[in-house]
Amino acid sequence: MISALMPTYNRADLAFERGQGAWLYTGDGRRFLDFGAGIATSSLGHNNAHLVAAIAEQAARVMHVSNLYRVPGAERLAARLVAATFADSVFFCNSGAEANEGMVKAMRKAMAGTGRRERTRVICFEGAFHGRTLAMLAATGNPKYLAGFGPVVEGFDHVPFGNMNSLRDAIGPETAGIIVEPIQGEGGVRPAPLQFLRDLRAACDEYGILLGMDEVQCGMGRTGKLFAHEWAGIAPDVMSAAKGIAGGFPMGAVLATEAVAKHLVPGSHGTTFGGSPLACAAANAVLDVILAPGFMADVDRKARVLWHALQSVVHDYPEVFADVRGAGLMLGLKCVGSNIEVQNAMMAEGLLTVAAGDNVVRLVPPLVVTDADVAEAVEIIRRGARRCLPSHHQVAAK
Ligand SMILES: *Cc1c(COP(=O)(O)O)cnc(C)c1O
Repeated sequence: MISALMPTYNRADLAFERGQGAWLYTGDGRRFLDFGAGIATSSLGHNNAHLVAAIAEQAARVMHVSNLYRVPGAERLAARLVAATFADSVFFCNSGAEANEGMVKAMRKAMAGTGRRERTRVICFEGAFHGRTLAMLAATGNPKYLAGFGPVVEGFDHVPFGNMNSLRDAIGPETAGIIVEPIQGEGGVRPAPLQFLRDLRAACDEYGILLGMDEVQCGMGRTGKLFAHEWAGIAPDVMSAAKGIAGGFPMGAVLATEAVAKHLVPGSHGTTFGGSPLACAAANAVLDVILAPGFMADVDRKARVLWHALQSVVHDYPEVFADVRGAGLMLGLKCVGSNIEVQNAMMAEGLLTVAAGDNVVRLVPPLVVTDADVAEAVEIIRRGARRCLPSHHQVAAK
């Protein structure tokens, strides 16, 4: 008989009862170091006192009122994001896919609003992941995710990630813009070269089309900057954020320049839940922490420590790992054998990670991970690697 929960996931047989910082505890007394963070989402870790208090206090006042009224927490959150980014205006929603849908709608609407109705198509990249709604499946373009779901939503073209010649060839009279993940997450923790991001900006300016960025996973402090594109010294016209934005409370956001956002007039786009008092209280609490002086510099410092330690792990276990990739606290270990086997070996040793495409094990710890946590994770990764050595299998077989 089918499980009551729809069988869309192959779940690990682990149920967590509570968490603290980067640690999760099962009901039967086991503890795990959480370098998955709910897929790069629990940015402040578990049971963060400031976040918990902000949610509890707001829940006791008012959780939800709809966007038919002013939401002071949303106004404050938007103003803080505007002050800290390229954006002039922000739309709040509830997930990454929904933020990306809003981003595509904003691009198309801005084209229509500037007399270019025919420009509706968006260029995306091979290996991308933009979410699971029908249109974002089309934007993602991965045949594995599209299979069985019927006609593919029109309007998305795909070119190889990192190739400017193919990109220029794909720009046509119907192109509204480009959407790029500065670091592909699900696709295998593949950073776009910074020069490629700059070249995309230049191409968009040259053709008068819009640069959209999906920072759902790599944004909100994960790379040691508030948004990953900042490393390239350029800015998009429109950008999506979600995952870490409210520390585990569901939220998404579309951030845009005035030139784009001004076309989203009353009635043109909407949401019942988006930007609720409760979600905004959570996101404001996250910003309190990650915008505090020195916080992101410390993310960058810890990330470099982890990066160097992983380099030596790869060097010591060439039979298990091919390389380290990524940026900040969004790192991937490319595996020689099956990434699932490596992930399971690490889990057996007490470390939670997330599998990604291209045979990669993803390490995306809470941004508040401590130096001791990082050192412990590296030791666990070494123990997990030893479990995956061919010699270990021989010993185990005897
Ligand atoms: C996770 C993710 C999404 C989808 O977010 P959901 O909240 O699951 O809808 C979109 N884009 C990127 C880059 C992601 O990592």
